[in-house]
Amino acid sequence: MITKDELTAQLSNTLARQKKAFRQRPTPISYQERIDALDRFQAALYEQRHDLAATINQDYGGRSTAETLLMEIFVIIDEIRHTKRHLRKWMAPNHVMPNWQFLPGRARYVYQPLGVIGVMGAWNYQLLLALSPMIGAISAGNHVMVRPSELAPLTAELMRKIIADCFPEEYVTVITGGLEVSQAFSTLPFDHLIFTGSTNVGKIVMRNAAEHLTPVTLELGGKSPALIGENYDLKSAAQAVLHGKLSNAGQTCVAPDYVLVHEKSRDEFVQHCVDAAATYYPSLVNNPDYTHIISARHYQRLEKITAEITSKSGKVVTVNPANEACTIENGVFPPTIVYDCADDCVALNEEIFGPILPIVTYRTLDEAIEYINDRPRPLALYYFNRNRALNKKVIDGTLSGGVTINGCLYHLVQNNLPFGGVGDSGMGAYHGHDGFQTFSKKKAIFYQSRFSLSKLLRPPYGPLFSFFVG
Ligand code: NAD
Repeated sequence: MITKDELTAQLSNTLARQKKAFRQRPTPISYQERIDALDRFQAALYEQRHDLAATINQDYGGRSTAETLLMEIFVIIDEIRHTKRHLRKWMAPNHVMPNWQFLPGRARYVYQPLGVIGVMGAWNYQLLLALSPMIGAISAGNHVMVRPSELAPLTAELMRKIIADCFPEEYVTVITGGLEVSQAFSTLPFDHLIFTGSTNVGKIVMRNAAEHLTPVTLELGGKSPALIGENYDLKSAAQAVLHGKLSNAGQTCVAPDYVLVHEKSRDEFVQHCVDAAATYYPSLVNNPDYTHIISARHYQRLEKITAEITSKSGKVVTVNPANEACTIENGVFPPTIVYDCADDCVALNEEIFGPILPIVTYRTLDEAIEYINDRPRPLALYYFNRNRALNKKVIDGTLSGGVTINGCLYHLVQNNLPFGGVGDSGMGAYHGHDGFQTFSKKKAIFYQSRFSLSKLLRPPYGPLFSFFVG
């Protein structure tokens, strides 16, 4: 059994080799080398897509292959394509106008790689959350150490092999192993560390990083609301919300965590939610489209959430159309709509991260906005309304990591939009150009000219100085 100190020493060695390889380069990794690296990785990912989906399926004991392909592998491939299309422009130096006193000097800024980037992922999208930051880091010319979650170990191991076949260890490498590896990893002196996971662990990681003044990007969780406008078509809203909620069986950071619906529409909306869930998943057990809960611990956590609601006289509607046995052993947790929940219950106060959807009612839009703003800032917000002025009111009146209007999840996969939380849901952003910028140093460069007024502003300060300052 390896000790904590030995583990830290091993990881430190890998980091030291990467830092050395980075420093030994006379110039940053070129545009062409970055493109080649992205090409190589894109081809490997595409070739291994079915193996990867099958392996994630094993880790979950049942994970929708369609979702692995649609929501992880093809999102990553799409991000690589987007990056390759725009990288030359992103890397180009940007010339700006110097202050007039410094003319005819020249000013510009360049994006320079930082060095070695640490990436810590979460199990719920084991590929996407490890590889999307990695692509951003590679595009910016860095070396990368990737640490996937220990809760999907088979996928982590396959990812390690694929990356080891594509890249030398001192350029990009994947670190596997148990929780103790994550703990040691977060204490390493990276040039930047991006962490995806829970808010509580995010605080620990940030504290560890502070020891070396390592800058962090934190991609955290929270309770993302779906607010249904008073006049919006309830059936269509329920279909969108349930799709967002039940993808990956609710184990999605941007899943709608709870719904705010006008009190007059509550019962009708609940019925539409039940219908939508039953249409998407006519059966649950052995349904290749319905994902299982990752572990017995998480399954029990979800059971406790519904048990508490029942014990406090709330309503729990389970959607199990084929009336199958959903158990902790088979890992299938049925879609569950809950309402009339007591204000203090866990369902309304902690991130659910499973297929349980609480419905909360409001009487006025202002009241709904206040309900959202009384709580920690969410990672995502969904608003269903076709009225522009009301859309603006909700967008301006709330603060969240991102917003999708009249849909769920979709802002996350826009290559031209930043992805990141705010407050309790995180700090910083990545994806596409934002990833490139996050993993770069935006360095200011000024070229002093031979002739410049500024040279006259040196001691002894005489009449010219008085002319300037008045
Ligand atoms: P988690 O915080 O338990 O684990 C995330 C990572 O942190 C894992 O790699 C784990 O090994 C590591 N870790 C755990 N304890 C640690 C410690 N004491 N020190 C150092 N590292 C430690 O989260 P999870 O259960 O893997 O993922 C679920 C959470 O992640 C949810 O809150 C979800 O909302 C959030 N999430 C956020 C995003 C996003 O993009 N914002 C995406 C997916 C998941």
